[in-house]
Amino acid sequence: MTWDFDTDPEFQKKLDWVAQFVRDEVEPLDLVWPYDNYKPLDDEHRRIVDPLKQRVREQELWACHLEPALGGQGYGQLKLALLNEILGRSTWAPTIFGTQAPDTGNAEIIAHFGTDEQKARYLQPLLDGEIFSCYSMTEPQGGADVSGFETTAVRDGDEWIINGRKFFSSNARYATFCIVMAYTDKEAGPHKGMSMFLVPTDTPGLTIERNFALIHEPDEEGSEALIHYDDVRVPSTALLGDEGRAFEVAQVRLGGGRVHHAMRTVGLAQRALDMMCERALSRTTRGKPLADRETVQTYIAESYAQLKQFRLFVLQTAWLIDKTKDYSKCRTDISAIKFLTPKVLHDIVQRSIQVHGALGVTRSTPLHKMWVTAPVMGLVDGPTEVHLRQVARGVLKGQQGTDGAWPTEFLPDKVEAAKRKLGLE
Ligand SMILES: Cc1cc2nc3c(=O)[nH]c(=O)nc-3n(C[C@H](O)[C@H](O)[C@H](O)COP(=O)(O)OP(=O)(O)OC[C@H]3O[C@@H](n4cnc5c(N)ncnc54)[C@H](O)[C@@H]3O)c2cc1C
Repeated sequence: MTWDFDTDPEFQKKLDWVAQFVRDEVEPLDLVWPYDNYKPLDDEHRRIVDPLKQRVREQELWACHLEPALGGQGYGQLKLALLNEILGRSTWAPTIFGTQAPDTGNAEIIAHFGTDEQKARYLQPLLDGEIFSCYSMTEPQGGADVSGFETTAVRDGDEWIINGRKFFSSNARYATFCIVMAYTDKEAGPHKGMSMFLVPTDTPGLTIERNFALIHEPDEEGSEALIHYDDVRVPSTALLGDEGRAFEVAQVRLGGGRVHHAMRTVGLAQRALDMMCERALSRTTRGKPLADRETVQTYIAESYAQLKQFRLFVLQTAWLIDKTKDYSKCRTDISAIKFLTPKVLHDIVQRSIQVHGALGVTRSTPLHKMWVTAPVMGLVDGPTEVHLRQVARGVLKGQQGTDGAWPTEFLPDKVEAAKRKLGLE
């Protein structure tokens, strides 16, 4: 019987170190540089950021999502989940620990599918935290539905020529290269006819037409790029993975990414709950702290239970991935935690805002950013509706219908059968 909710004491020591380090050393960066965590580091940033990354490396906590051969710790998803819960509280923490999206997923697929030359050129500097990358898949006219994609890559001798427009290519403005998904054979359809390409962002013909800002960001800080690929020429060696296998490559990337979002959300939601409790204990109304009001107690109790359920589900899914070493075998649970992520965050942040009163709807607490993060989590790496369908399909696969007029649980029939079995007729 091995069913254990204890954290290994040695690893708990590491988590305690991380919690204090993030609170004392990393969260100040969130306050003074809230939009800079993907920007190339200038001298002023380097003076502060480089020593912090070095301290993480000394603790053997750098890029924990990766196997040791790639410079990570090979901790697996369960340990990563416990770590990401802490990192999720801070904007800068994933960058300081070498686990920020979308670079984690991009590194994973280059490690998995890249040639030696591609790994040397892109993977190593990415893992060293020296460059940023961009994943360029979604298009203006088609996001969740890949069959609506139009971008093409056409062979021309030893080169490919890419044409199309991509939407929400996060951080393209700071990235050294984009991973671009394009049709190389439209006839073969989206699942067999698309390929992935590694495209340096300074390639002629690649233009960022506009950078969209998320709801809480100033326009000038927006980094969700609309990119025009206009006769962008790349060598044949830019193909990542086999021709026509973009879908397979994308799945490797998305499996981990979805779980990591859920892990970080546990930390974010816990922070919103902590804030709710502090406010409830500190603010009085009609001579009593808010914490003594029944409705506020309900908010706290529901948030606690909702978060605990979610956290255990995320940890159990991480454990299952470690056990099976195969994302596709955990697809139902990954999709389930993916669609729960925005709901849990929304509900807890909503209650926390409510308990903070008017202050809760200002930009003077972290709640405003958490509030926007909830709908973002319902869209990134596939909208909620698509994951709901995935879960339903997974659950139904293990079930079967009945031919009879009544359900098999129809009690009159079951009582009759029980009587027959017990000889009571
Ligand atoms: C913050 C952020 C960062 C992102 N970063 C990247 C990135 O780096 N690279 C990249 O390529 N993309 C990125 N995306 C894009 C993301 O992958 C898409 O937003 C997502 O796939 C949905 O596509 P869409 O926005 O075009 O919505 P649509 O596909 O237009 O869907 C809109 C809505 O329609 C409904 N819907 C769609 N399909 C179905 C269905 N099958 N069943 C029922 N209802 C459905 C849902 O309500 C859905 O939300 C990012 C998105 C966000 C919000």
